Amino acid sequence: SLFGLPEQAAHERVLLATDPATGLKAILAVHSTARGPAFGGCRLWHYDTELAALNDALRLSQGMSLKNALADLPFGGGKAVILKPEGQFDRPALFAAFGRAVQSLNGAYITAEDVGTTTADMRGMQAHTPFVSGIPREGAFGGDPSPKTAWGVFVSIQAGVRLVLGRKSLDGVRVALQGLGAVGWHLAEFLHQAGAKLVVADVDAAKVERAVAQLGAVAVPVGEILAADVDVLAPCALGASLNEQTVPALRAKLVAGAANNQLATPADGDALQRRGICYLPDYLVNAGGIISVAREYRGEGEEAAVMAEVSKIGERVEELLQRVQVADSTPARVADDWARSKLVKLA
Ligand code: NAD
Repeated sequence: SLFGLPEQAAHERVLLATDPATGLKAILAVHSTARGPAFGGCRLWHYDTELAALNDALRLSQGMSLKNALADLPFGGGKAVILKPEGQFDRPALFAAFGRAVQSLNGAYITAEDVGTTTADMRGMQAHTPFVSGIPREGAFGGDPSPKTAWGVFVSIQAGVRLVLGRKSLDGVRVALQGLGAVGWHLAEFLHQAGAKLVVADVDAAKVERAVAQLGAVAVPVGEILAADVDVLAPCALGASLNEQTVPALRAKLVAGAANNQLATPADGDALQRRGICYLPDYLVNAGGIISVAREYRGEGEEAAVMAEVSKIGERVEELLQRVQVADSTPARVADDWARSKLVKLA
C-alpha cells in the first residue's frame, strides 16, 4: 500500500516528476521538514522496477532525516532518485528537467550529488533552481562532498578501533573496503596513511589494481569481501550489504562505512550484535558529505571549519557507544532513538 507505510517511514510528500521530452522519470521524496528544508542528494540509477526506485527513494530520504538530525544540521531529510533512461540520453537536458522539478517544490527540498551524479550535473541545474549544492566555485568553498564523507568515516573508524577493539591506533589494523568509488578511494588513502592494512574489492577492476599498486592493498573477489579475515569492515558500495546471508559470515569485529542503508532490515542490526560485531550506523558515520554541502549552501563554507565539524562525528561515535552501554541495546536502535528525538522544529 502506497499510504500504508509505518508511521516512522511516513513522508510529508513524494513527487513523481516526468518530462517526456528528456525522458526524465524522477522521485523526489521529502521525509521531514521539521528541522528545516529537506536536504539530501540525487541518485541516478538503473532500477529493475519503478517500485524498487520508490522504495530506494523513501528509505534514503528517511535516512537523511536521521542523518541531518544527528549531525545537528538545520535541515530535514529528503532524497531524489532519477530512473536512468535506457540507451543514449541528453544528460544536460535531463538534469535541466530535474532542476525544474526541484524548483517546483519551492525550497522544500534541496539537492546535491549522490551515486551516479556529478558536480557538472549540479552546476547545470543552477540555471533552473537555486535549491542545489555541491558545486565547485572559484575562490570559494564548494563541490564534491565525497572527501568529507570519507573523513567522517575515517574518524569513526578511529574511534571504533580505540573503543571497541581496544587498539591505540590504526597501525597494522586490517580493514576490508567494499567499493573504491568516490568515498571508498579517499577512505582507503586516509587508512593507508594511518598504517592500516587494506583488503579491497570493487566490480571495477581498474580501481582495485590502483589500490594494489598505490596503497599496497590485497585484492579479493567481490563475493568474498564481506567475509574477509579483517578487524574492520567498511561497506562503501550500495545498500543492504548486511543481510541474512552475509551477517553470519562476517569476521570483522567492527563495521563502519559510507554506504547508505547498509542494514537490509533492523533485525540484521540485532544479528550483528548477537555475533559480537559492533555496527556503527551508516547515517551517523557518513554525514561528512551533507555537512559539507549544507555549509556550502548556507555560504558558511571554509575548509578548516568544515573539517572541524566533520571531525565531530568521531565524538558522536564515542557518545553513541556510551549510550549503548547505558541502554543495553544495539548501536543501530540507540542511534535511531537518538536521531528521532531530534526530529523536532528548531527554535
Ligand atoms: P561511487 O559510485 O563513486 O562508488 C561506489 C563504488 O562501489 C564504485 O566504485 C562501484 O564500482 C563499487 N561497487 C558497486 N557494487 C559493488 C559491489 N557489489 N562490490 C564491490 N564494489 C561495488 O559512490 P560513492 O559516492 O563513493 O558512494 C558510495 C556509497 O556511500 C553510496 O552508498 C552512497 O550513497 C554513500 N554516500 C556517499 C556520499 C558522498 O559524499 N559521495 C555521502 C554519503 C553516503
